[in-house]
Amino acid sequence: MAVLGAGVIGVVTAWYLSQKGHTVTVIEQDHSVAAGTSRANAGQLSYSFTDALARPEFLRKLPGLMLGSDPGILFRSRPSAALLRWGRVFLRQCTTLQAHANTVAVLQVAMRSARLMDRLMEEVPLEFSFARAGKLVLLAYAEDVANARRSVVLKREHGCLTEVLTRDEAVDIEPALQEIRGDFVAAIYSRDDHVADARLFTQGLADRLRRDRAAEFRMGETVTGLVVETSRVRRVVTDRNDYAVDAVVVCLGTGSAKLLLPLGIDPEICPVRGYSITLPPGASAPSASVSDLKSRIVLSRLGPAIRIAGFADFVDFQTRHDEARLDALVAIARRVAPLAADYETGDMQRWAGFRPMTPDGRPRVGRTRIGGLFLNTGHGMLGWTLACGTGSEVAQLVS
Ligand SMILES: Cc1cc2nc3c(=O)[nH]c(=O)nc-3n(C[C@H](O)[C@H](O)[C@H](O)COP(=O)(O)OP(=O)(O)OC[C@H]3O[C@@H](n4cnc5c(N)ncnc54)[C@H](O)[C@@H]3O)c2cc1C
Repeated sequence: MAVLGAGVIGVVTAWYLSQKGHTVTVIEQDHSVAAGTSRANAGQLSYSFTDALARPEFLRKLPGLMLGSDPGILFRSRPSAALLRWGRVFLRQCTTLQAHANTVAVLQVAMRSARLMDRLMEEVPLEFSFARAGKLVLLAYAEDVANARRSVVLKREHGCLTEVLTRDEAVDIEPALQEIRGDFVAAIYSRDDHVADARLFTQGLADRLRRDRAAEFRMGETVTGLVVETSRVRRVVTDRNDYAVDAVVVCLGTGSAKLLLPLGIDPEICPVRGYSITLPPGASAPSASVSDLKSRIVLSRLGPAIRIAGFADFVDFQTRHDEARLDALVAIARRVAPLAADYETGDMQRWAGFRPMTPDGRPRVGRTRIGGLFLNTGHGMLGWTLACGTGSEVAQLVS
């Protein structure tokens, strides 16, 4: 049985398959585990913050966004045909009804994920800077506060407890917010959201799989195709090998479409670029994870470091603006959260990655019309959060 991709999704999938008694071959093009989008994400286990990006408010703001009104979002001046196609499907999701359905569907996976992560941590002792930190989402505009109140009610109906706090109440919970220079008026608080380092977790779990001889990792091998005969997947072809398989789970993140489209399967994944910096904490670093909706940055305390991440650039696979965008992220972080990090340090790690976004915000998990071929991909902004939920789901289906 093969799992393609050794990001957080592939490794967690291999873990749950191994728990069901399967021996798994994980194939990864990079030489290390979690080298793609799972490498330096914001580190938030945002179980309560599953609100779909495609919603009516986003649609209303879109013309301004396309003209550059928001420094946190960038659109390619000449979008590719693939991006335009994806955009059309995304626009159709921007209704209240669809946004609710998508938010709740992802919330259910997230809540299951939270329970599974707790269990996994009991079974496998790993050091990955995990902290039950809680999460505060800062709101600057009356419209955002009104939307937040509706979202809190919707989530409560589905068993997820969040609350809208005044600015003062939020500062009581996280005193470091006093030093935030944003003009936020309220905050959504979710006590049950956590922070942790996705890369350390993925590496630790992969080591454990290797040690238990439950999975073999074929690193530095690029999957170039799948051979399908009599409607079943029979072989995985890489640039170095050819593997006979009885089942395959595709966990290639933004690399999934390239492999699946020739088979007539469209996972509807658009790469959305985001950025992060990791640096020593400053004099007033928050311990809760903090998302500032206005500036589109998030701050997470990961062990001895603070990670600041953000932005959503719809630029296909372009990377040429990276340095400018990272400079912009640093500038915004310095302005909004001047004491959260030690920006003067020479020890700042800069990173960028592509979120595998689907138009409806739901990951693509499950069977395909080809026998033995399964998907676990398209986790967008929430792959770290949803990893245990979708990994166990697909393992169950494969078994
Ligand atoms: C700035 C930023 C901040 C984020 N913050 C958060 C957060 O706080 N919380 C959260 O839940 N999520 C967050 N995310 C999203 C999360 O990081 C992703 O959803 C998640 O990492 C996706 O994991 P993956 O395993 O599907 O993809 P990847 O980690 O990209 O793994 C896919 C793997 O497949 C390999 N691969 C691709 N093609 C091939 C091929 N042909 N052959 C062999 N190997 C191949 C790649 O090398 C890669 O290692 C953030 C993302 C970004 C960019």
